[in-house]
Amino acid sequence: MKTFVGQLKQFHALRLKKGGDLLALLEHFVREEDITWGVVSVIGAVERAAVGFYNQETRSYETIGFNEELEVCSCQGNVSLKDGQPFVHVHITLADKTGKAFGGHLMPGTIVFAGEAGIAELSGDGPIRQVDPATGLALWS
Ligand code: ZN
Repeated sequence: MKTFVGQLKQFHALRLKKGGDLLALLEHFVREEDITWGVVSVIGAVERAAVGFYNQETRSYETIGFNEELEVCSCQGNVSLKDGQPFVHVHITLADKTGKAFGGHLMPGTIVFAGEAGIAELSGDGPIRQVDPATGLALWS
């Protein structure tokens, strides 16, 4: 196990724009603010969603689309450096109008209806993502 230690540098609270792509909004913000390490959380609602499931055999993401309005029950993730750029990695749990929940790796195509995000920016030397041969994923190193 590898550990990284940081301190809270700044907390950013964001009201997300209706009609924006959730992942793109988060990525744009961290790049504009040059946040290289942090923790992300979001609640709200989306007009439609796309989540990924990482197929461990084929080592590729399969995208699942939901063309309906959904509640964002939980959306958690982090910011770290990948290829020298701030990279947002977020997982999302969504619920439909019956209260049934599902989720996955947040993909482009998740469109905000309303959203509140918190980004805890950390200081110190954060992790850097590099391709891990054992999983095929860009993991912290
Ligand atoms: Zn993921």
